[in-house]
Amino acid sequence: MPLKVKVDLGLCIADGVCYALCPQVFEAGPDGKSQIVKEYRGGEVNEGVVPDDLADCVEQSRTACPVGAILVEKA
Ligand code: SF4
Repeated sequence: MPLKVKVDLGLCIADGVCYALCPQVFEAGPDGKSQIVKEYRGGEVNEGVVPDDLADCVEQSRTACPVGAILVEKA
């Protein structure tokens, strides 16, 4: 089942952990804050829908994010 992924840009401190761990899904925006790569992006740069085979990668980033800025739910 695909996943809805969102980065809370109000919480993100731009430390780069998520895009180091899972560059298939996350990338640095202009200010270093995380955004979703274009391939999976939705209407906003900080949200998207990601295929199930990247669930482990997303989960690693979600749990590693020091401020809990990565939100994941089933799409
Ligand atoms: S791991 Fe969290 S704080 Fe760090 S860049 Fe990603 S979303 Fe932002």
